[in-house]
Amino acid sequence: MKIGKLHILNVLALSIMLAGCFANNAPLEKESFVMGTVLSQKIYGKSAKEASLEVESKLRSLENDMTVRKPGGEIYNLNLNAGVESVKLGFDSLHVLREAVRYSQISEGAFNPVLGPLIELWGFAEHPGVPGKREIDKLLDLADYRDIVIQEDWAKLRRKGQRVDLGGIVKGYAADVAVGIYRSYGIKSAFVNLGGNVAVIGDKPDGKPWIIGIQNPRDIHGRYIGTVPVKDASVVTSGDYQRYFEDDGKRYHHILDPRTGYPAQSGLISTTIVTESSIKADALSTAVFVMGLDKGMELVESIYGVEAIFITNDYRVFVSEGLKGVFKMNTGAERYKYHEKR
Ligand code: AMP
Ligand code: MG
Repeated sequence: MKIGKLHILNVLALSIMLAGCFANNAPLEKESFVMGTVLSQKIYGKSAKEASLEVESKLRSLENDMTVRKPGGEIYNLNLNAGVESVKLGFDSLHVLREAVRYSQISEGAFNPVLGPLIELWGFAEHPGVPGKREIDKLLDLADYRDIVIQEDWAKLRRKGQRVDLGGIVKGYAADVAVGIYRSYGIKSAFVNLGGNVAVIGDKPDGKPWIIGIQNPRDIHGRYIGTVPVKDASVVTSGDYQRYFEDDGKRYHHILDPRTGYPAQSGLISTTIVTESSIKADALSTAVFVMGLDKGMELVESIYGVEAIFITNDYRVFVSEGLKGVFKMNTGAERYKYHEKR
């Protein structure tokens, strides 16, 4: 497969050459609440403040366009008119919807952007609870991504009751948009984290790569099982610990298997994707979580420039070819066993 590892090593060499370019520059560090989650920005360079404000305002507008929980937005209207008529969409919604369908195809339906009714039924947003199997099966029939029709500037859902939910991909897109805004201001070094969707521009100003921690899925927030160094890349994790509830001692998490309508039980509890684009990392991390270790790793290895770290429910950590020797396990994560690929 591809040359992920080599590429990262070259990147390290390049970053040493660039060391000093931005020395002595204090970054702008900012946290805000956008798209239902925390947005952290760390930006080096003259126009950091303007760029950070533009990112905030653009992300708020993306949230309005694509949220399914507040009336008035583009995707909300698309859902409202399911089975009735087509709805005009702006560039961003159309793009995210097209990409969502593309990743559904690539993952053979493991990624599915029309799980709206099922996600609502499980109540992950507000009132979680285990639904009856009959109700689940009824809604499963509506979850066919091939019923999304997309044309030049409009889209349509073929059947009444169908509803798009872009929760598995939209934060990644937003992180890409943030990176685009930073670049438009000439920024050469920045870090953005939107609810766990991380994207970075360049190296850190000291010429060293950004070191991204991978959350230990069974420890408190901020405790990492390991780290991965990156430059001009995105790191996105899907996990069964990110949103879940327990009932009768059983964990029910927010990533549904579109074949069953129940939380995916693929044997994986955390899937991280490292690649250049955040929308790709976001869609793939969700998809491979559903696909499981073997099929998920196969998909990762088949796409150029995509790397992954998978953690199984029996505490094994698998990394793809290009992360061998790059991903570093933390010494504190004793419970976990490191494996290089399946
Ligand atoms: P992520 O954290 O990116 O893995 O996305 C999880 C979110 O995506 C959930 O909270 C749902 O809104 C949505 N979702 C759940 N299951 C799927 C799935 N199989 N495909 C696409 N989106 C999903
Ligand atoms: Mg995702």
